[in-house]
Amino acid sequence: MMEPLMCPYCGGAELIEEEESVLETEDEYWVIYHWRCTDCGEGFDKVTAQPLDQAFEDSDDEGPLWS
Ligand SMILES: [Zn+2]
Repeated sequence: MMEPLMCPYCGGAELIEEEESVLETEDEYWVIYHWRCTDCGEGFDKVTAQPLDQAFEDSDDEGPLWS
């Protein structure tokens, strides 16, 4: 889903996805995707971060009245 379309170095489209890293901070959830280009051999990362409360928000159930 986060797949880049081409290598940022040479523009090649033959990319290998390596195992991603997951990092959880106090209030954010990070996923770091690692890619390697088979054309030029360069590797690069793509980082996505989202707030923890958003990452786990999956219902509209009535909860405590926060506001
Ligand atoms: Zn490349």
